[in-house]
Amino acid sequence: MTDISLLPEVEAFLARRHGQYIDGQLAAAPDAAAIDVINPSSRKVIASVHQATPAQIEQAIASAHEAFTGVWQRTSPARRGELMNRLADLMHARREELAQIESLSSGKLIGLSRAFEIDYSIAFLRYYAGWATKIHGRTMSLSLPSANGEQYTGFTLRQPVGVVAGIVPWNFSIMIAVWKFGSALACGCTAVIKPSEFTPLTMLRVAELAVEAGIPPGVLNVVNGNGATVGPAMIAHPKVAKITFTGSVPTGTGVGVAAMQAGLKHVTLELGGKNPAGFLRDFPVERTVDGIIEAAYLHQGEVCASAERFYVHRSRIDDVLESLHRRLATLKIGSALDENAQFGPLANAAHFAKVMAFFDKARAQDGEIVYGGTAAPGDGFFVQPTAILARSQADAIMTEETFGPVASFLAYDDEEEMLHYMNDTRLGLTASVWTNDLSKALRLVPRVEAGTVWVNMHNYIDPAMPFGGVKSSGIGREFGEAFIEHFTELKSVIIRY
Ligand code: NAD
Repeated sequence: MTDISLLPEVEAFLARRHGQYIDGQLAAAPDAAAIDVINPSSRKVIASVHQATPAQIEQAIASAHEAFTGVWQRTSPARRGELMNRLADLMHARREELAQIESLSSGKLIGLSRAFEIDYSIAFLRYYAGWATKIHGRTMSLSLPSANGEQYTGFTLRQPVGVVAGIVPWNFSIMIAVWKFGSALACGCTAVIKPSEFTPLTMLRVAELAVEAGIPPGVLNVVNGNGATVGPAMIAHPKVAKITFTGSVPTGTGVGVAAMQAGLKHVTLELGGKNPAGFLRDFPVERTVDGIIEAAYLHQGEVCASAERFYVHRSRIDDVLESLHRRLATLKIGSALDENAQFGPLANAAHFAKVMAFFDKARAQDGEIVYGGTAAPGDGFFVQPTAILARSQADAIMTEETFGPVASFLAYDDEEEMLHYMNDTRLGLTASVWTNDLSKALRLVPRVEAGTVWVNMHNYIDPAMPFGGVKSSGIGREFGEAFIEHFTELKSVIIRY
């Protein structure tokens, strides 16, 4: 198995001195501490990125604020949409370059980087671009009586909230950033994006393409660095009006508290899950196994929407686990840049250590390792795709998010018990129900506590479908029309005549 050759422009990009992208320019501060970017497939350093200094964070926000009150406000909605579509065109033209940088820094299989990370990002960007001309208020009929025959007319304006700080995790470093700046720009806001310190490279390239597309300098800025220093500085800044955050539950909870303390700022939180998939008794064994592979192992399980808890009827569970074992054994594990690999490395050393610790926890709690449960050969952060039969619903592998390729199983005896298990968590991002009996599925769907419920599928997202969590999995929704509410203020205007 061999890696594809890197494009010359990727080699040239990696060799640059990286830092921030502020007001339409690359801005590295050579005195600032640098973070090494590690290729998860080889554990080798591929680039280094200077962290944003406090002065650079200030500049980025000031530049976004100036653009918000100046050039971007003067840009018509139609023109905003046009420019966003032009950025989508450039991303399409640079698809391979962006995909290679993404795979090198995140461990995402190259096929997935191309078809999911880049192509979906383009689709989302075009979707948001389409909304730029369709954001509007309403005219109201006012009904309270007037004293002297005067009349009133009332209407609402939907106005952009202002500068948006977008804080992004490492699993989809372009796509999740697009969800944030695409929403912001369509609504007339400007954005400062903070990528994860593990994957700081691709957004720098996207921000350059934005200026090449004609999006004015200052409208889209990127600052890099450790979350615990850069994040709070962005949230606390008086010129930041909204924080849109995607990441873990503990960090996101802190972000929400900080946003309130910084003056009740708008905040959207897209957080983790411990997502269940419930297979009804009627669902055939081989289709169950197909479903488990779709739900658990995409991008090595590093997908917030992936399922980690699987409930299978007791009469079927032995057959399902036996067949799953056979299927997992055939997966080719390899480098993210190897087009023949079907399963890549985990994204970084800390995450590798976390997933390995889960294997130990599962063994300590007498979970039965059906497949995997160990590191896999290779220089990178490779682990085996793993399936574990839990001892009980209270086991750590049934309650704590691994965010890795770890499918945990429990048998159930009747559908009420399955539903109880599925909802027995403080999280509620996604869930899936699998059955050939549509009427049963439709009766179950309203009772499943999750922001998205799939039937006979898992991990499918679409720009038109609102996405977000219930319970501790988050606040707010991205995609669909729902995003508009989170990036605009509703102003009431009343006129007497
Ligand atoms: P994380 O919470 O560790 O980091 C997310 C981002 O927050 C990073 O950019 C990080 O630098 C920054 N950050 C860290 N400390 C901060 C602070 N004190 N203030 C402000 N920002 C700070 O998450 P991660 O490990 O990068 O990503 C994995 C998690 O993200 C998983 O829990 C996964 O479920 C979740 N996730 C959720 C969604 C969703 O849409 N709901 C999507 C992808 C990932």
